[in-house]
Amino acid sequence: MSPREQEVPPTGCCEAEPESPKQNGEIPEHRRCENEEERQQQEAEEEEEKSSDEGFMGMTPLLQAHHAMERMEEFVHKMWEGRWRVIPHDVLPDWLKDNDYLLHGHRPPMPSFRACFKSIFRIHTETGNIWTHLLGCLFFLCLGIVYMFRPNMSFVAPFQEKIVIGMFFLGAILCLSFSWLFHTVYCHSEGVSRVFSKLDYSGIAFLIMGSFVPWLYYSFYCSPQPCFIYLIVVCILGVSAITVSQCDFFATPQYRGVRAGVFVGLGLSGVVPTLHFVISEGFLRATTMGQMGWLFLMATLYITGACLYAARIPERFFPGKCDIWFHSHQLFHILVVAGAFVHFHGVSNLQEFRYTAGAGCAEEGAL
Ligand SMILES: [Zn+2]
Repeated sequence: MSPREQEVPPTGCCEAEPESPKQNGEIPEHRRCENEEERQQQEAEEEEEKSSDEGFMGMTPLLQAHHAMERMEEFVHKMWEGRWRVIPHDVLPDWLKDNDYLLHGHRPPMPSFRACFKSIFRIHTETGNIWTHLLGCLFFLCLGIVYMFRPNMSFVAPFQEKIVIGMFFLGAILCLSFSWLFHTVYCHSEGVSRVFSKLDYSGIAFLIMGSFVPWLYYSFYCSPQPCFIYLIVVCILGVSAITVSQCDFFATPQYRGVRAGVFVGLGLSGVVPTLHFVISEGFLRATTMGQMGWLFLMATLYITGACLYAARIPERFFPGKCDIWFHSHQLFHILVVAGAFVHFHGVSNLQEFRYTAGAGCAEEGAL
C-alpha cells in the first residue's frame, strides 16, 4: 500500500467526486475510495500494461522467445484462416498425398478447425467432395423427417415400419455426415485426418447395414427367421468392416483397392438373400413386387462408384485436368447419393406393396 493511499479517508469520499484526468502520475481522487481488492487488481493491470509497453526489453530471453512464438503462431493462424493459397501435389506432406493424378489445387496443412470449415467456401480439390455429401446429407435429413411424419394410416405397422425405414435414414445420414466432415478437416493434421478417415469408412458400413434392414424386413415379411439370420449376418460383416477400417494401414493410398473391395463385398453379401428371394418367389414376382430392378440399379451405381474410386478414373487419363471438378472421388460421392436414393425409392415401393397387401401372409406366399 502506498503512503498516498494510506491518507485516504475510510468513508465519504465517493460522493459527487468529479472525474479528473490523471495528473503528475497521481492516482485520481475518486479511485481512492475503492476497496482494497479492486485497488490491487487495478495495480496488477497497470503493471501488466506497463510491462507490455516496455515490450521485450523487460523480459528474460526465455520469455522473449515464448512471446515471439505466440505472436508467430497467431500470425500463422491468421494466414491459415484467410490468406492461404492452394498448393501443388508435389509439395504436400506425405499424409496429404492421396491421389497423384490431382496435380494442383490442394489445400495446405491447416491445423485450425475454423480454417478447415471456412475452406468449405473456397475452391480446391476437396470442394466437390465436401458439397456432394453435405447437400446429400441435408437432402436425406429432410426426406427422413418428412417420411417419419407421414400419417400412420399409410402403414400396416406404423411404429415398426418407421423404425425399420429410420435405420436406412440413420445409416445414410451418418455416412454422408462423416464423409463431408472428413473431407472438411482432412487437411487439419495427420492425427485428425486419421481419426476422421476411420469415421468416414465406418459411415459406409453404417449405410450398407442400414440399407439392408428395410429391404430384408419387407422382402422376408412373412419369413421372419431367414430375415433375422440375414440381418445378423450383415451386422457381423458390417462390424467386421468397421473393425478393419480402424487399422491405420487401411486408409493408406496403397489400400485403395482393398477398401473398395471390402465395402463392395459387404454390399454384395446381399446376393445371398436376393437369390433366396428369387428362388422362393419366382423371377416375375421378384422383379415386380420385390423391386429387383431398383435394387439392381442401386448395386450398379454403388459398384460403378467403387470402381471409379479404386481405379481413379477419369483423372488417370487426364492428369491435372480433373483437379477441381469431376475427379473419381467426386463421381463416387455423387453415385453413392444416387444409389442411396434409388434404394430408398425401391424400399418405399416395397412398403407400398405391403400396405396394399395388408398385414396378412397366407395369400401372399413368402413375401
Ligand atoms: Zn469421400
